[in-house]
Amino acid sequence: MAARKDLVKEETTGITVKKADDMPEWYSQVVLKAKLAEHSRIKGCMVIRPKGYAIWQTVMDYFNERLKMIGVENAYFPMFIPESFFEKEKEHAEGFEPEVAWIEKKEDDGGERLALRPTSETIMYDSYSRWVRSHRDLPLRINQWCNIVRWEVSDVKLFLRSREFLWQEGHCVYATEEECDEEVRIIIDEYARLCEELLAVPVIVGRKSEKEKFAGAKYTLTIEAFMPDGKALQCGTSHNLGQGFGKAFGISFVGEDEKRHTPWQSSWGFSTRLIGAMVMTHSDDKGLVLPPKVAKNKVAIVPIIFDTGKKQILAEAGKVADELAPFDPILDDSEEHSAGWKFNQYEVEGVPLRIEIGPKDIEKRQVVMVRRDTGEKSFVPRKEILATVRKTLDTMQTDLLARAKERLERSMTAAETWDAFTTAIDERKLVFSPHCGEEECEDWIKDKTGGASTRAIPLKGSEAKGKACVHCGKPAAYRVYFSKSY
Ligand SMILES: [Zn+2]
Repeated sequence: MAARKDLVKEETTGITVKKADDMPEWYSQVVLKAKLAEHSRIKGCMVIRPKGYAIWQTVMDYFNERLKMIGVENAYFPMFIPESFFEKEKEHAEGFEPEVAWIEKKEDDGGERLALRPTSETIMYDSYSRWVRSHRDLPLRINQWCNIVRWEVSDVKLFLRSREFLWQEGHCVYATEEECDEEVRIIIDEYARLCEELLAVPVIVGRKSEKEKFAGAKYTLTIEAFMPDGKALQCGTSHNLGQGFGKAFGISFVGEDEKRHTPWQSSWGFSTRLIGAMVMTHSDDKGLVLPPKVAKNKVAIVPIIFDTGKKQILAEAGKVADELAPFDPILDDSEEHSAGWKFNQYEVEGVPLRIEIGPKDIEKRQVVMVRRDTGEKSFVPRKEILATVRKTLDTMQTDLLARAKERLERSMTAAETWDAFTTAIDERKLVFSPHCGEEECEDWIKDKTGGASTRAIPLKGSEAKGKACVHCGKPAAYRVYFSKSY
């Protein structure tokens, strides 16, 4: 019996630190106690638990629908990449070199080392070189959902940093630069839409600087979210790869002019990091807060059980659960724990709405409804329960995004002098400043500020005519957002 008691005690412990006081520890506790993920015994790796994977599943379902509309098909490629593939595109190979995990030579591989994919451009484009023959084969649009290995870190931050993670990577081939540009943009807009509509996480859309762009790309578009601790979190990128990979991998097509051409290519991806961004954005000192669209169980029904009238209350709770079936309600009629214990538990786990039914509620033909995000309590007439729950979940989804947008806007500031810039970075702001565009200058800024880097050059409104670089004073090439980052 003692063991059982300990277990219960451990389970009832809520989040023990405040979000504002110690964000990393708070975040880790929320993810662990909401049972989204845990640390693995394998160094650098994480385990995604069913509640966490259900969120990823929702993201996959949502995005697969969008991909279908764009005409992208899913496929799957090997996770082993021969070293010789890597070496075909020099910048790409160099960019990934520090974080590639190698499987040492095996005789049956012809003595060649194999990489565990850190990204799949090279293995996919080897196939593409056989698939693309004519302009009729284009555009070719393929996506894969898979795992990725980047052997750079050993300290895991659940969903944010681990040696192996899950993602999607799209790889498309086009006859013209214009088509490629257009879809690189369509995809980044889809990513922004996913973040805002599904996860209620507002993002800034922009272009990466030369220093921060993808290794081997012509340019990279990015979506950046801004976390409550004043750090940006890159949530997805879409690259115009130009013709470099096509040339390196011998991808070519015969055009309508009957001449041979090198196509244009794009690649784009987002990962399970999105879940981390969502958790940090919305959750609070009580635990996880989930946007209703992402929550598997959108309602928890807790009957308030006394000895008298118990049967009637349980029957009523059962009826309410049946009515609310579209929202996958949890009906918690266990008698092992008190109602208060259950309330805490569902708050830690982030169930969007709680419904309580006690003897008085039956008398008054009503239920008590409590919102997870605001704690707001209301009495809902029994007859209106389905419509009210639906409406409240919609409102909650909209409110979460609106609140996050407000916070993002409050975090943004502009600075044109070095003094104003460093003050704003110290205040953990997202700082919009003119910059010369030189890599060396970015390195200096990063060094002098303890980690501030360029995050995104907005697609509109980044002109910096007549302005001087906030750091070196040279003529500015554009205005760009700076901040520290995850
Ligand atoms: Zn400069």
